[in-house]
Amino acid sequence: MNGRPQRWPLHPRPQPGEALSSWLDRVSGEHSLTLHDLLEHNLGSASIVDEGWSAADLDWAPPDRVLAEVSERTGVELGDLRAMTFSGWVPWLMDALDEGDQEHFDTYVRQDSVLLTPGEVGHNVVPRWRPWLAPGAVWHRCPVCADAPDRVVPLFSRLPLMLSCAEHGCLVKPAGDLVLAAFDGEPMPPEPARPETVELDRRTHEAITTGRVTLPRRSVHAGVWFRLLRTLLDEVSTSPSKVRKRSEAVLHTIWEAVGTPARAGLNVWRPFEALDREQQEAMLQAAAFAMRQTETGVITAWGTLGPLLTCLPYQPVESGAPPRRRSRARHQRRGIPQPTWTQRSRTSSKRRRPTKPPRGGFCSASPGGDGAPRPSNANARN
Ligand SMILES: [Zn+2]
Repeated sequence: MNGRPQRWPLHPRPQPGEALSSWLDRVSGEHSLTLHDLLEHNLGSASIVDEGWSAADLDWAPPDRVLAEVSERTGVELGDLRAMTFSGWVPWLMDALDEGDQEHFDTYVRQDSVLLTPGEVGHNVVPRWRPWLAPGAVWHRCPVCADAPDRVVPLFSRLPLMLSCAEHGCLVKPAGDLVLAAFDGEPMPPEPARPETVELDRRTHEAITTGRVTLPRRSVHAGVWFRLLRTLLDEVSTSPSKVRKRSEAVLHTIWEAVGTPARAGLNVWRPFEALDREQQEAMLQAAAFAMRQTETGVITAWGTLGPLLTCLPYQPVESGAPPRRRSRARHQRRGIPQPTWTQRSRTSSKRRRPTKPPRGGFCSASPGGDGAPRPSNANARN
């Protein structure tokens, strides 16, 4: 009895992004136990029920000794177990588990910008705040996933972060509604999400499962992605009358695409976390459109993080000086105005500085862009 605790006989592997309570519930099911029984009688000295813990607390910040005992009994690494709880996502998802103050909000949400120029959103009083955690929020599940026999529940389905399932592309629904509908013998059918929503949620899912997100310009850390998305949600919830004319036009373009009044009819500004679910869904939809429209060049993102949503401009690799000289000489002989390689090169290096986000199409060349044009355009101009 003094040695290491014995492994539980059956312990299915955790799935990527799965909540700790979901996985332990599956483990207990393998042993024909309830989760309560597993935690009360099979964790040795780390039994947590006597201390007033509930299964839901497992997903927030379980004591280290509980995680250590679970790790001993399942062979799952301690770090992997922590990643199945929100405490394991500090400081990526949030800077700390405790509520922050005004400075915390300003740093997380408004230190950078995406669509608008820095500082354009202005100031709002937010004395107590924590990112992504909405009071009274309920689990949202994909109808297809919820119907699967393995009963895997993602940790992030607790947060208002995604509108769709990254695997099935259908809208998530309140988990309680799904259960009730199934109980009544009329399960909710999957409802396809809009393409731009699927794309946004695919990136968030990538952040959750890999720790990085592949954006058009480069890959970014999950911590950058969560802050970029939260900043974008803040910007689309800003009153158009509060910003510059060009930003007002951008916000109108986005909300027109969503098909609802600007900022989903919000009269008095509140942080995203304090909105009701319907308003949060509208904001996420607007953020999805904003990303799509930025990438396709419909709108221009003027913020510090805006360029991340567009491709690096095409930069041709010159084949060397000799061909360029021959070309210039040929043009001079023919009386054609001076060539473009030198000018283009100079212009390109000047515009490469990110003082202005690119205009025009996604990955396309345009006279107002911040990089050199594609060869086809170059030929056309020559
Ligand atoms: Zn699904």
